Amino acid sequence: MKTKILFLSVLIGLSSLFYSCDEDGGINIFTVEQDIEFGEEFHNQLLANPTEYPLIARNTASATAYQHLDRIRNALKTSPNLNYGSTFSWDVYIINDDNVINAFCVPGGKMYFYTGLIKFLENEAQFAGVMAHEMAHADKRHTTKIMTKEYGFSMLLSALLGDDPGMLAGIAADLAQGLGTLYFSRDNEYEADEFSVKYTNDASGDNNFDPKGISGFFEKIGTDPETTSAPEFLSTHPSDEHRLDNITEVWTALGSPTGELYATRYAEFQNSLP
Ligand SMILES: [Zn+2]
Repeated sequence: MKTKILFLSVLIGLSSLFYSCDEDGGINIFTVEQDIEFGEEFHNQLLANPTEYPLIARNTASATAYQHLDRIRNALKTSPNLNYGSTFSWDVYIINDDNVINAFCVPGGKMYFYTGLIKFLENEAQFAGVMAHEMAHADKRHTTKIMTKEYGFSMLLSALLGDDPGMLAGIAADLAQGLGTLYFSRDNEYEADEFSVKYTNDASGDNNFDPKGISGFFEKIGTDPETTSAPEFLSTHPSDEHRLDNITEVWTALGSPTGELYATRYAEFQNSLP
């Protein structure tokens, strides 16, 4: 109920009616500030449900693991290809569940990585590729674009104009329910893969990741007999056979840049998990 009220107030709070075609195209009736609010609300719901989301707290035992996670995030978030690199928080969290091979990002940039995913991957380039992919979903504001599309611009507009207050309440409730379960489109996935290559390519110095790390992830997830039956990542991130081709195309257009895998350092990250 609290959630419904929050979303209702978020919608009513739009005092003037406008929509934006953001820098990358695609209609989004929500503001960037609302992306951040939705993400905060989702995080609060997650904190209230430790059974489903057993977050690993930042403490002495987890310090090394979070140092690795923060370092990789810091290397990626300065990419000039990000629109909201300095606007979003890009907070990172580890969820303690070895059985789930997945990661997700909510609007506003908070990211969550399951221990199952961290342990499944082979090197830091693959992990950075997945993190960069998640960052792209948030930076391209895919969730609020899907909400805009799903509910229809005219329906949202009419609700916001107050023609039908009952409809507005219904939409607000649906949004709250749907935030965690909205599925990205194939186009969203292509775009997230494209920018995964770009963000990882922009990282340099001690974090000179192989920009094709995301390909390495897909190759591994596609060939491991333990995961092909139920890869959670692919259930929330729809895939098709052209995804690897798309990644190669983006990488070739960048001049086929190379980088490091950092397998030894990644093993340290894996072994540091509490
Ligand atoms: Zn995705």
